[in-house]
Amino acid sequence: MDQSKESILQKLVEMSVSIGETAKDLVILGDGNTSAYISNESFYVKASGSQLNNIGADGFTEVFFKPVLDILKRESISDAELKSEFANARVDPAGKHPSIETVFHAIALSDCDAKFVAHTHPISINSIMCSMDARKALSGHLFSESALYLGPEPIIIDYADPGLPIARSLIYEIKKYQQKWGQQPRVFYLMNHGMVALGQSAKEAENITAMAVKSARILLGTYQMGGPRFISEEDVKRIVTRPDEEFRRKLANK
Ligand SMILES: [Zn+2]
Repeated sequence: MDQSKESILQKLVEMSVSIGETAKDLVILGDGNTSAYISNESFYVKASGSQLNNIGADGFTEVFFKPVLDILKRESISDAELKSEFANARVDPAGKHPSIETVFHAIALSDCDAKFVAHTHPISINSIMCSMDARKALSGHLFSESALYLGPEPIIIDYADPGLPIARSLIYEIKKYQQKWGQQPRVFYLMNHGMVALGQSAKEAENITAMAVKSARILLGTYQMGGPRFISEEDVKRIVTRPDEEFRRKLANK
């Protein structure tokens, strides 16, 4: 394996084990999955059946982008076809099968320019994502750090099958976001499911996850004290465009 691929895989393993730590409460059992960009041709993604807390390099599989993204152009696809298309997308045909949620990863790493992606099912996030008022609760920022690390607003996707339906909504929402904000999204929230953190580095994907969880815990607390009081949209815009804040964010994500 060439050196740069080896170092990407090593960072991915370290990030995954850290995210899988039981005390962090982000995933249990085989929940969640992670990925990393290798080149415009391929990426690493968690293999089906691996567990994040004890994953090693052999828990990942290298997948070509093109066959995965080509699936998204199809009108419809059955679960069995999806599974076999993912299997055919493996760079090493004898390699492990990629996670069925590979689709989020391919989109995040290609359409949003992310380099490391962490998809988790944190309890605090899902306490919100499984609620009637989830969209309203996520419609603002409670404190400046969340705007700085998570971006001006999240992308929220209604519950859908992890295959084509969720991919279509994601692609649509990503385009809308990019046009509105002129930047890449850093977090997707999936209703009744979990979150996806999009990092330029492994550290950033972890930081985004940690900040989203912190914000979710505070948000849940606000509902015991009269509900959330968001900072103003002007303040959010100011925070996300200030060069000194951007410098601070980049330093923390290194
Ligand atoms: Zn999931």
